[in-house]
Amino acid sequence: MTNCVALIGFPLKHSVSPHFQQAAFDHYGLDVRYEAWEISEEYLEATVNRLRGPMMLGANVTIPYKERLAGLMDEVEKGAAFVGAVNTIVVRDRRLIGYNTDTVGFVRALRQDAGFDPTGKRAVILGAGGAARAVIFALLNEGTGGVSIVNRTMARAAELAAAVRRAFPRSEVVSLPSSGVVRDVFLKCDFIVNCTSVGMKHTPSEGSSPIVADLIPRDALVCDLVYNPVETPLLKAAAEAGAKTLGGVSMLVYQGAASFELWVEKEAPLNVMFRGARRALGQEDVFRT
Ligand code: NAP
Repeated sequence: MTNCVALIGFPLKHSVSPHFQQAAFDHYGLDVRYEAWEISEEYLEATVNRLRGPMMLGANVTIPYKERLAGLMDEVEKGAAFVGAVNTIVVRDRRLIGYNTDTVGFVRALRQDAGFDPTGKRAVILGAGGAARAVIFALLNEGTGGVSIVNRTMARAAELAAAVRRAFPRSEVVSLPSSGVVRDVFLKCDFIVNCTSVGMKHTPSEGSSPIVADLIPRDALVCDLVYNPVETPLLKAAAEAGAKTLGGVSMLVYQGAASFELWVEKEAPLNVMFRGARRALGQEDVFRT
């Protein structure tokens, strides 16, 4: 019988995980189907119980459920508990174990693909949702010097900053509303990470950038977690400002590779996964070698 791994989120139209995860299972000839389960909030608990079915290996979790689902697991691995968000579920003996692979995925993309060492650097994080939590916790584990959290909903940014201070009492963390004047914070930073969904295809903010172009310092690195489109309005503005850029595809594949290894305990075929992701994003000719 065919095994199944689900992707749980809403909306899922933008997601390319089904393409590159299925390519990885097929690469090994595994009888596993990766299915997108686009579900609304009222079905979340029923969906979680569906994961306990006999052929389920696990799931990925995406917007907007990463934090909610952490509370619905039988067990949450230490790293994910620390972050307070789950993006990967592994089913063992019908028990659901929550992990967070966004952390390792982001750091690997930053270090390997952008050649950037975050140790001692100052970051501006746009957003305060599940992805922002994972990125901030990962960065502080890597010794990032200071973090400014900028979010549309100020209360959410303040709450996240408080959680970060509890976990890293010596860290320098501030929270700011995106509507306020925060120009100095941007001009003094070494890198900016967009952890909002602004700019994502098939959403109302498609075509928008989370910040205006003149906030981007020329010598900064600008990372966008949004990977569809590959060149987001933020990345385009950053490149025009002369800044270095890192798109969301690297992190996407690295976090997915870490999830794959948890489900099937085989080395993730990275080239196959990058090719699957880029093909799904309409970038057939830009293959990683
Ligand atoms: P989430 O928990 O739903 O958080 C969404 C964040 O975006 C919140 O900070 C929200 O602000 C902000 N936001 C949404 N719409 C906005 C708008 N129109 N204007 C300003 N801010 C807005 O989602 P998430 O899980 O953190 O994911 C965020 C993004 O990261 C998604 O696009 C996701 O696909 C991407 N992501 C990519 C990877 C990767 O591997 N490349 C991994 C994880 C996530 P409020 O608090 O004010 O609502």
